[in-house]
Amino acid sequence: MNVRLPIYLDNNATTQVDPRVVQAMLPYFSEKFGNPSSKHSFGYVANAAIEFAREQIANLINADKSEIYFTSGATESINIIHFGISHALLQKRNHIISSNVEHSASYESLIQLQKKGIEVTFLNCDSKGFIAPELVLNSIRDETFLVTIITANNEIGTINNIKEIGRICRANNILFHTDATQAIGKIKFDVKDFNVDFASFSSHKIFGPKGIGGLYIRKGLENTIIPLLFGGFQEKGIRPGTLNVPAIVGFGKASDLCSKEFEKDFTHTKQLRDKLYNAIASSLEFVSLNGDTDNRLPGNLNLLVRGVRSDILISNIRDIAFSSASTCSSESGKPSRILKAIGLNDEDAKCCIRIGIGRFNTPEEINYATERFIEEISKIKFKKNYQSKI
Ligand code: PLP
Repeated sequence: MNVRLPIYLDNNATTQVDPRVVQAMLPYFSEKFGNPSSKHSFGYVANAAIEFAREQIANLINADKSEIYFTSGATESINIIHFGISHALLQKRNHIISSNVEHSASYESLIQLQKKGIEVTFLNCDSKGFIAPELVLNSIRDETFLVTIITANNEIGTINNIKEIGRICRANNILFHTDATQAIGKIKFDVKDFNVDFASFSSHKIFGPKGIGGLYIRKGLENTIIPLLFGGFQEKGIRPGTLNVPAIVGFGKASDLCSKEFEKDFTHTKQLRDKLYNAIASSLEFVSLNGDTDNRLPGNLNLLVRGVRSDILISNIRDIAFSSASTCSSESGKPSRILKAIGLNDEDAKCCIRIGIGRFNTPEEINYATERFIEEISKIKFKKNYQSKI
């Protein structure tokens, strides 16, 4: 089979920068290197590029360009909202609603807020990873000031009913933030239609560069946030500091490509994902899917390979890059919090693999990966069964 090894199947962790994005960025390292805050021709050129990128990103999520703020990534965007609003409202209200399937960027920042005396309700998901909108409604108290729920899960790909959760928040006069990091560019994400007040996201998940992120703040809500950093007045003081022009240009270009090629990317990744899943599931009856079959990110697969430890599988299959859970939780060495939240026991949670298919994967790569997965899983399983019999 004619494929270049190793094959990258971890597109929920990060994505390759699209060569068209690299091309767009290059001039901003060298001849167009100005500081966008400078009041001379170099600054004006850089500033025009920033504003162009802001518009490209706004278009991807149906926002106005004045509602987009640049940060270093989704982690920073989420922290700006969680801490920024809490500081502003602490004297008046002290309750946040979130869930047990948030990414650690959200979950850990809420744990810090709990230590500062803010009450946080972490709603439990169901066995597919969904947060029921009725649970959000039933948890609202007089003191609730913020609901923060992930749009699409980074491990199991489950897509929440954000539109309904947003509607409930708006009807009850509660601010609503969503971590849309895995969602933008992959599914239709529309801040107006979904009644979102704040959304966090990152460039490196959509074939853009790392270290640059976005924050959507609905017009009129800028003053509800006390910034984490103080200094200059860039990004209206919400995120001061000299802007990373090449990265922002790349983020803009990556967003534009996602807008223009949405249908193509969606169909491509979903077809390859389904092909891989159907082939593995039909050959190995002990493999099952974590998360939902339909309301799921198009390129995401999360498989429970019962009896086969993911760390062993990963070390045996060196020519394919995939992961055991989220990159962050695999670093902790503990079974994934998300897999436990959907009801898996510790042993099963250690036997799950996450496969993330992206724009640059080919049918040939998926054919190769299918054979490798079936071969290695069968080998480990056979060895285990044999050992247990002797
Ligand atoms: N939220 C989700 C759902 C993610 O998948 C990630 C990245 O893995 C983040 C937040 C953090 O993004 P960043 O690394 O850009 O800060």
